Amino acid sequence: QRPRFGTVDPATGQDGRVYEGHSLDEALAMTREARHAFEAWRQTSFAHRAGLMRKAATVLRRRQAEFADIMTAEMGKLRKEGLAEIEKCAFNCDHFAENAERYLAAEPVDLGGPRAFVTYNPLGVVLAVMPWNFPFWQVFRFAAPALMAGNAAVLKHASNVPGCALAIESVFREAGFPAGLFRTLLVPSRDVRALIEAPSIAAVTLTGSVGAGREVASAAGGALKKSVLELGGSDAYLVLEDADIDRAARVCAAARMVNGGQSCIAGKRFIVLKEVRAAFERAFVEAMRAYPMGDPRDEATKLGPLQSVKARDAIHVQVQKSIDRGARLLLGGEVPDRPGAWYPATVLTDVRPGMPAYDEEVFGPVAAIIEAADEAQAIRIANASPFGLGSGVLTRDLDRGERIAAGALESGMSFVNANVRSDPRMPFGGVKESGYGRECSYFGIREFTNIKSVVVE
Ligand code: NDP
Repeated sequence: QRPRFGTVDPATGQDGRVYEGHSLDEALAMTREARHAFEAWRQTSFAHRAGLMRKAATVLRRRQAEFADIMTAEMGKLRKEGLAEIEKCAFNCDHFAENAERYLAAEPVDLGGPRAFVTYNPLGVVLAVMPWNFPFWQVFRFAAPALMAGNAAVLKHASNVPGCALAIESVFREAGFPAGLFRTLLVPSRDVRALIEAPSIAAVTLTGSVGAGREVASAAGGALKKSVLELGGSDAYLVLEDADIDRAARVCAAARMVNGGQSCIAGKRFIVLKEVRAAFERAFVEAMRAYPMGDPRDEATKLGPLQSVKARDAIHVQVQKSIDRGARLLLGGEVPDRPGAWYPATVLTDVRPGMPAYDEEVFGPVAAIIEAADEAQAIRIANASPFGLGSGVLTRDLDRGERIAAGALESGMSFVNANVRSDPRMPFGGVKESGYGRECSYFGIREFTNIKSVVVE
């Protein structure tokens, strides 16, 4: 029995294409084929793999507009941001084509006698369970280093982006990668456990929610297979009393509004020292007002629809509950009367513990302003979250900002006077419930390798 995956245009609420998926038996057969392809692929040189990865970058750039259109149709991404996402994927392919050999070069070890070194062997077929929010970037961030390291991959993408999932498979096919080396499995999430347990799967990576992370980690733990998890975040930005308030407001609004607020590394909590709170609120509301809702296909639009009506409704409940418990609404907060998954830029202040906007991740365009008495309290509030993905500090004193960012904040990434962004050249990942392991840079490419000690005497 094959599952079916229907798509819905979030801008209009209208049904789109329906895709016939794979049965579990078909998916398991594809993992075995990937294992077979891996046996030959692992023998190839870095130069050979790099040639194909550069071709993948070329295919991405050639089909950039087509792929941006699919993202807009399936999950409502602004078309211009879809174009930028495809370019980022191509840059990532080029980056790992250029650097994988160096990142995985054998490292000599001085044992005082025999020849000794550390080398990085591929693990096998990696299962990637991926989310809809950056449907291409999340996959390429994993796939380019994994394939360059000599692994094979199978993708279980989010159920609302089947067209993106198949398009990604077609990029690797068109670039000339061996048949079966990268496959898209159109399966529901209930099949993930059986895939993790399949003998042909060596490891699993997931980007998504904490709940999905727990399921995948427990299945991987039961099967004793390596896992990497990139989960949610509730990134805090500290606005200190010496911040340039207009700049802070712009940076914080940009941090909150990335991808309509649907990003794990979006700024979600803005912890503002009381001296500058009133000034920040005024400037921030103006900065957020500059994101009116509009057609995602229009070049000028800064906020399109959210991914689904269901997700939008859940966000509205978080906002309403926060208001019921004493938060003050400064902007937005109303569901527009039109079809589609629309929600306006929203600002809540006086946000306190016990409110969803304080305690939970809000995966949409809703900012929470939290007051702190001083720097120490601001750091305590930031770190009191179960999450630890990204964080930010806004201050004119760069030494102070660096001290807080580098030392005090419990997060995998921390930026001073800028919003957190991913980059293939720097490790990406979190601590606490934001997950474990790293993607990008040499840390990322080594995650799915066997770090092998070799001694020759
Ligand atoms: P999910 O975690 O549900 O989806 C992410 C991926 O995991 C999808 O491929 C999904 O498949 C799969 N999945 C879901 N449940 C399971 C499971 N029990 N076992 C195995 N795989 C599973 O994210 P949502 O789309 O529901 O988004 C909800 C929340 O997830 C957000 O509010 C945010 O907190 C977080 N999130 C974080 C992202 C990030 O970038 N770190 C990205 C997206 C979401 P399927 O679609 O078939 O259910």
